[in-house]
Amino acid sequence: MTVFPSDPDDEALRCLVGALTDSGQAISLYDAEDRLRYANKTYRVLFMGGYDGPLTFAGILRYADQNGLGVRIDDDIEAFIARTLPRRRSVPRKAFETDLVNGQWFWMEHTILPNGWVLSIGSDITALKHNEKSLRQAHEAALLASRTDPLTDLPNRRHILEHLDEALVAYSQSGSVLCVALIDIDHFKAVNDTYGHDAGDAVLRRFAQGCRERLREQDLLGRMGGEEFLLVLPGVRLNDAVRIVDAVRAGFPGDSLTDHLSEMRFTFSAGVTEALPHDDRSSILYRADRALYDAKAEGRNCTRIGFEAKTSMPRKASSLNTIK
Ligand code: GH3
Ligand code: MG
Ligand code: MG
Repeated sequence: MTVFPSDPDDEALRCLVGALTDSGQAISLYDAEDRLRYANKTYRVLFMGGYDGPLTFAGILRYADQNGLGVRIDDDIEAFIARTLPRRRSVPRKAFETDLVNGQWFWMEHTILPNGWVLSIGSDITALKHNEKSLRQAHEAALLASRTDPLTDLPNRRHILEHLDEALVAYSQSGSVLCVALIDIDHFKAVNDTYGHDAGDAVLRRFAQGCRERLREQDLLGRMGGEEFLLVLPGVRLNDAVRIVDAVRAGFPGDSLTDHLSEMRFTFSAGVTEALPHDDRSSILYRADRALYDAKAEGRNCTRIGFEAKTSMPRKASSLNTIK
């Protein structure tokens, strides 16, 4: 059995220090008074440059700060030193990541030795951080894609329904008002049949873009599927919701798609309803859907209101919902 010497002899020590000196890790050793007693080449290059002043932790930090070396420090260097010095020996071991002025990232491990000296070993993790950043960006892009309808760039069905759920929770907690509108483009099949599927796609994009231009930021429009859209209007009363939908309609006055397809026009029908206490996603959408059905049945290109099933109020009530 091989017995390893716990006390290295001089040759082993020379060898060890030589290896540390040439290591790509940044290695430093400060004594109990925070004077630098050993620094390998990497540490000197990254944290000290050509510094030959008083070799104290604070002196080296000041020099690095003035000469664009070492760790990135966002606040005043003296405030940084005052904050860091008392914490240097607060725990026997600590590890943390830090970024340098030159853009590199290091994983730092600090060990307090029994005599109060501080051994610091920093490993370059720049490549890992770049991978982490690309992964995070890829994750964010995937998340966005999973929520977005690729044709119109609007929130997709799942996402607009999540918005609706959130709006219903906010409505029930705030005592404010909330309206929704289901919007369906009229005779859309005929657009496809007459002009082709690509022209149909262009109408959907045109509709989405036109709505975006006319709605406020807090009005949320999403594509439920096909040529059907859901508009969620937080803080909006029924009459105003009808006005908003009809203002959107007024923005497409038999709208022409493009110059060369100027004969192509489209209209839409809408069913609007206001949130009621205890509404959930399906009950509010049910009323909006029934109102949309009414709008279609009554000739299309109009807005109808969905009232509670039990109510005796006529569903084709106000003058607001007669605009064609
Ligand atoms: P209504 O006025 O009653 O709403 O009639 P409509 O023709 O608009 O409705 P219908 O449900 O009969 O037809 C909808 C059409 O929408 C059928 C489908 O092929 C088409 N469609 C669904 N999704 C898309 C799409 O992404 N792009 C295109 N171009 N067409 C689509
Ligand atoms: Mg339709
Ligand atoms: Mg439809």
